Amino acid sequence: MDGGKGQIIEGAVPTVKADTNSGNFGRFMGWVDEIRTMHVRANAETPADAKQAMEFGAEGIGLARTEHMFFDPKRISDMRTMILSDNEEGRRKALARLLPYQKEDFKQLYRTMDGFPVVIRLLDPPLHEFLPHTDAEMQELADKMGKTLNEVKNRSNSLHEMNPMLGHRGCRLAVTYPEICEMQTRAILEAAMECREEGVKVVPEIEVPLIGSKKELDIVKNIIDTTAQKIFAEKGKSIEYEVGTMIELPRAALMAEEIADSAQFFGFGTNDLTQTTLGMSRDDTGAILDCYRSKGIYVADPFASIDVEGVGKLVKRACEYGRQTNPELLLGVCGEHGGDPKSIEFFQQCGLDYVSCSPFRVPVARLAAAQAAVKFGKTQKEHKSDKAA
Ligand code: PEP
Ligand code: MG
Repeated sequence: MDGGKGQIIEGAVPTVKADTNSGNFGRFMGWVDEIRTMHVRANAETPADAKQAMEFGAEGIGLARTEHMFFDPKRISDMRTMILSDNEEGRRKALARLLPYQKEDFKQLYRTMDGFPVVIRLLDPPLHEFLPHTDAEMQELADKMGKTLNEVKNRSNSLHEMNPMLGHRGCRLAVTYPEICEMQTRAILEAAMECREEGVKVVPEIEVPLIGSKKELDIVKNIIDTTAQKIFAEKGKSIEYEVGTMIELPRAALMAEEIADSAQFFGFGTNDLTQTTLGMSRDDTGAILDCYRSKGIYVADPFASIDVEGVGKLVKRACEYGRQTNPELLLGVCGEHGGDPKSIEFFQQCGLDYVSCSPFRVPVARLAAAQAAVKFGKTQKEHKSDKAA
């Protein structure tokens, strides 16, 4: 269907790939980029998505969700072995087999993003999300691990949670199983060091999810820093890296002034922050929200467009207080709201450095950031001189 001409055409017509960097569109987006003060990054973990995002004008990766990398058929069985091991030694053996895969993923990502910033988030979802559900798959895993079907079932049942979104996930995985964080840190840093040798520029930004207190972040940061020192000693050289945290629990937003003391950046995870602030599941609220919107309780879907009055208050507070503690703190958002124009307008007012969204939303986010800069922001010149001061 050609909406421009009002034609319905029978059969396939030849098409060309949209190019946002040339022609009138490219020229217009050039003006957009001159105006906006917020950067636009993308949420991506595969080289294909990262490349797509760059073609759309992204200026880095604001969130690489590492868990997606474990679902590949070649790795899932080692991941499951790691989860089902009942001791540290078993977990470490399985993690050692996952390390080369994870390292290769990061190398590909760094190569694609050559020189642009990359935020890599440590493992976040509850572990039982990786486990098989059918008896046949469980039996296969049991055979591989030298266990009985019942043993595998029992361990799997013991990981079951009534409220997994509020359960054993995020930084809680690193706190309870430091070896997972060690493996991921090693993969992130060794990949970066090897890429540097190829001439690829990279300063990895390691992101800790679901933090609620400075103490939690300090414990995980210590695992990262200790692992880094070990790697640097082994290799006789070092590399720069940054450690930051997601702000996706109300407590984290309320403790921002303390947390900022241990973080080089904040990534607002507004999906979880909305879920936990509203006390409403991000996955099951469709019907409730339709009713709530029809009664005017929420004007828009708060999971699509930020609830400025409630969740927004937490974001704004965390920005202000976080920067009071650490004026260098880099602030970004990587929840769904990072690609929503109305939310982007609000993030501009909060003084965020960047928004991060899915690759296909990058052009819209660039435009929305420019519109927000016109409405509420400063010119790029004023913004730069503020930063320099
Ligand atoms: C978030 O919670 O906003 C976020 C980006 O993390 P995830 O969606 O992976 O939970
Ligand atoms: Mg989250």
